[in-house]
Amino acid sequence: MDLLDRHAHFHPQTDPKVLERDGPIVFERGNGVTVTDSSGRSYIEGMASLWCAALGFTNPRLAQTAHDQMLTLASYHTFNRRANPPAIELAEKLLSIAPMSDGKVSFCNSGSEAVDTMIKLSWLYQSARGRSRKRKIISRHNAYHGSTVMGATLSGLPHVRGAMAVEDNDVVIFAAAPYHYRQAQKDETPETFAARMLSELDALIQREGPENIAAMIVEPVMGAGGVIIPPEGYYRNVEALLRRHDILLLSDEVICGFGRTGHWFGCQTFGFRPDMMSVAKGLSSGYQPIGATLMSREIYQAVSEEAGRLGVFGHGFTYAGHPVTSAVALETLRIYDEIDLIGRVRSLSKAFLAHLHSFSDHALIGETRGIGMIGALELVADKVSRAPFPPSRRVGARLIELAMERGIILRNLGDVIAICPPLVIEEAEIAALFSRLSDALADLQNELL
Ligand code: PLP
Repeated sequence: MDLLDRHAHFHPQTDPKVLERDGPIVFERGNGVTVTDSSGRSYIEGMASLWCAALGFTNPRLAQTAHDQMLTLASYHTFNRRANPPAIELAEKLLSIAPMSDGKVSFCNSGSEAVDTMIKLSWLYQSARGRSRKRKIISRHNAYHGSTVMGATLSGLPHVRGAMAVEDNDVVIFAAAPYHYRQAQKDETPETFAARMLSELDALIQREGPENIAAMIVEPVMGAGGVIIPPEGYYRNVEALLRRHDILLLSDEVICGFGRTGHWFGCQTFGFRPDMMSVAKGLSSGYQPIGATLMSREIYQAVSEEAGRLGVFGHGFTYAGHPVTSAVALETLRIYDEIDLIGRVRSLSKAFLAHLHSFSDHALIGETRGIGMIGALELVADKVSRAPFPPSRRVGARLIELAMERGIILRNLGDVIAICPPLVIEEAEIAALFSRLSDALADLQNELL
């Protein structure tokens, strides 16, 4: 297995040289919130795979649903008026929980595609209204919006851009991330920091010209950029500013969607109304590759008029609204209802956040931050000055290795340690996760002495 993988498999988001040297970590089985590797070791999956397996790693109902749908209609497309019952029902179900209940749903296969679709729809919408100069998209430093060409170009993370984003473009412009711990000036409270973020955003819009800006895209909680939770009121003020300038607000809910922050969608937790949303991951609990873009009625009406003039809405993916992925996603949403997912997150979150914040006094931890069932610890060399470790020391990566030795899987985003467990986790498992993390931190501290 190990040699075969090294021979043929080029892994995503992996240092190829480390893979060549150390080989892959092969996972063979899942059980509840744990996964087991090829040596037989089991781990609590503290990241729900990649922020997605809300229902854990074994759900017989989802397996049965996929099996049944495979035997009913295993594959079909939705181009040219074709539809299938699971896709139809899934679109209805999504609208019933979304803040744009009279809107429309466009399906795809991943979060990146859902983001790309939002950007294309933003351009089509502005063009439909006779505002075709409105092409620029505001993204933010630290943002992660996927790995397609547009996703990378929207990304505020250098390693995602690499040489792989469109650099010589006049389209994507960047605002600051609302990252109080790292970006606040001396003595800036969360409130005064949020006010500065807003006036800087306003200045950016004035500089670029509102007549040139189509939309701003935001992750309600910025995930891969460091689990950044904005200060109170930030999004409400951003929304008001964008409305004043006739700029669309796009909420990338690929991580926050489906209960993670204590509401169905992150925009509801933070009190703003987006014009469009991208969803994926939790939509099928990661059991099938599926994504979707939800749009308001107003967007739909304008783009459908424009597409009608052009003769077709010339966008779509072969597997959009695929019957098997749709059936599994629909069943996932039914299970979320049955287990009262939102109530469950709100009640579990109390224990989760209490454990998380209990690390705030730890000598290596500069900040603990969390909301709902997503959180992070930020490692620092000096707690008082907030000085980070030199990146070459790879302290965050080392902690993840030590955590695996202790039987938990977490993810380091530089020296920020993300925690985003399955939403079916039990309180005792949350306690075990944090106790193992505490042991791994002690191991790290010993190594650093
Ligand atoms: N948007 C956000 C906020 C994400 O976190 C991700 C993936 O982590 C994506 C988009 C891309 O999703 P995918 O990997 O399914 O293309």
